[in-house]
Amino acid sequence: MQLSEKAAYIKGLIDGLELDPTDKQTKIFKLIADFLSEMADEVKELEQCYDDVCDQVDGMSEDLSGVEDLLYDEDFDDDLTYSDSDDEDLAYEVTCPNCGSTTYIGEDALNDGVIKCPECQEVLEFDYNEDELDESEEE
Ligand SMILES: [Zn+2]
Repeated sequence: MQLSEKAAYIKGLIDGLELDPTDKQTKIFKLIADFLSEMADEVKELEQCYDDVCDQVDGMSEDLSGVEDLLYDEDFDDDLTYSDSDDEDLAYEVTCPNCGSTTYIGEDALNDGVIKCPECQEVLEFDYNEDELDESEEE
């Protein structure tokens, strides 16, 4: 039985007593019955609000986990505009002879034969071809 039903039930019982309406105790009983009924309504409203807030928190939690997936998932590029750039584009590690910093370049930059060191702006040139690439990478 819900709170509002219990309050109505108690109010009905009090009415059923057929108390003297001029009696001060009857007035108190009726005030208490009204009070219970109002309390039941208030609690019901609070429960509804609580459910709404819970739904909103659940929704935000789902949204947030979607954002986390986008931020931390390295394999999410399928649906994004830069999906044409895959991991192989940064497959080659190059150590700058000028400053010693290591940078990663793509196949396109390697085929151009020239890149700029991101640290010291030194121009780095490559003269090896595809066949020598695997061995050169080891250096
Ligand atoms: Zn450098």
